[in-house]
Amino acid sequence: QPSKKKKPRTPPSSIFEDFDTTAISGPCCKRYVICGGGTAAWAAIESMLEIDPSVAKDILLITDEEHYPYNRTVLSKELWDDDKKELFRSEQASKDAVEYAYKAQPQGKVSIIRGKRVSFLDVDEKRLTLSDSSSLHYDKLLLATGGSPKSPGYISAALASPDLAENVSVFRTLEDYKRLQQGLKKKDLGAVVIGGGFLGTELAIALASTSQKVSLVVAEAGVLYKVLPRYVCEYLARRLSEVGVNVIRSAIVTGASKKPGTADVVTLDIVSPDADHVEGNKIIVAVGIDPDVSLAMDADLEVDDRLGGIRVNDFMMVEPDVFAAGDVASFHDRGLGRRRVEHWDHAVVSGRIAGKNMMGQKARYGLQSMFWSDLTNIGVSFTAVGLVDSTLETLAVWNLSSAPVNGAPSANSYTSGVVYFVKNFEIVGAVLWNPKKGSGSLRRARALISAKTSVSGLSQNTLAGLV
Ligand code: FAD
Ligand code: NAD
Repeated sequence: QPSKKKKPRTPPSSIFEDFDTTAISGPCCKRYVICGGGTAAWAAIESMLEIDPSVAKDILLITDEEHYPYNRTVLSKELWDDDKKELFRSEQASKDAVEYAYKAQPQGKVSIIRGKRVSFLDVDEKRLTLSDSSSLHYDKLLLATGGSPKSPGYISAALASPDLAENVSVFRTLEDYKRLQQGLKKKDLGAVVIGGGFLGTELAIALASTSQKVSLVVAEAGVLYKVLPRYVCEYLARRLSEVGVNVIRSAIVTGASKKPGTADVVTLDIVSPDADHVEGNKIIVAVGIDPDVSLAMDADLEVDDRLGGIRVNDFMMVEPDVFAAGDVASFHDRGLGRRRVEHWDHAVVSGRIAGKNMMGQKARYGLQSMFWSDLTNIGVSFTAVGLVDSTLETLAVWNLSSAPVNGAPSANSYTSGVVYFVKNFEIVGAVLWNPKKGSGSLRRARALISAKTSVSGLSQNTLAGLV
């Protein structure tokens, strides 16, 4: 299992061969079928090939995207940076992919169906139906369907309106990235990002770095409010403003319409202390995702009412022959309780566990996955582990600096530090702020969490030890 921040990997397309659904006759198909073609799906395949390289020919991956599995994390970061873009220029044979060395040497190829959606699941018959009406059987199934961007009512209406659909979009896939990148030619008209979560924050910073005029409309008083303490969220919002992002706080968007007399500009009506409207050529909606549980619901598999997602145990098992992993899985974490995590490393960790268990092993979810966010243009990069949730009590140690920004005196900057998240007086999570490479702070944070460390027993040295 990955235990530290690694460069996200993309599998080379050469490992796959396209599978022709018209050739399916009778019930026979592949032994291992994986529904969804994202990070968790690929991690499962990789772990299966490590166990038995000859299993490649028994695996079928079905994805509704036209692409082979790729890494989404670059879409809101590296792909907007000219220096790094080259690394990811081709989605199917990126330099990253070509350089990726397999631990296992697959014998044969993994079959893939691209551009088709699995539209129905029958677990009694162990059968899937595809959007082209073909149907196929599995022996073991992995549901790795991820999630779809949420679309509030006014956005759904805008997306359905021929007048606005060109200018309003959600952002999840490589195609979304390409469309947005091509549509941002008119820099002076600007982009408006709605949502101050991970995606909205990263994308606003990335777009500002391309000299795009950018506004970020957030419902709260700062960014990343679901995860970070308030003072940090407000600090980040200030830093965003310093790099040219027009942050509109405590804002509720009430409607979208084409600006009268223009072909290209959309006006968003806003209720906020800062502004009553904002205009832009491209409106990007980043207000979270809904886990894609439709197949599980069809099949009467258990869906988590509280967290969303398909309920699995710590083997990532829904029932003996059905597994779920990644963003879509509500899993049992023996240390921290039932959770659903929407981050890359969790998709890898849980996908690998599911893959192993589909092959008959008994791997449990044990190691805490981590996540990161790189906001490099404002000098912030953080790594997090465990329960990172702003509704919990926090305890933090910071190194502060008060360097002037653009020549003007600045309030304190959080240069490095650690925020501990506390539940029932125990450390359950940590955010490592600009951690030093190779310092081992992530490993030590994991150890504090798994030891259920009580905050009352913490020494000043332990507290500061991760900074
Ligand atoms: P996905 O990657 O969403 O894959 C699911 C796939 O299944 C999709 O291809 C979907 O189209 C397909 N699918 C769904 N239903 C069906 C169906 N019925 N039939 C066929 N196919 C189907 N995490 C981090 O930790 N750090 C980051 O910096 C970071 N950056 C991110 C940047 C962006 C722009 C985005 C969008 C996400 C980022 N994440 C990051 C989150 C991370 O990418 C996700 O947690 C991860 O992709 C989840 O993997 P998954 O396999 O569960 O789902
Ligand atoms: P998110 O869940 O991180 O944040 C959603 C934000 O939208 C929250 O701040 C929420 O308060 C706000 N919001 C919700 N409804 C709203 C509404 N009607 N109007 C305005 N604001 C509203 O989701 P995201 O930022 O959209 O990211 C999408 C997915 O991609 C998530 O799963 C996220 O974890 C993942 N992602 C992760 C990273 C990372 O880990 N570094 C980076 C990018 C994306």
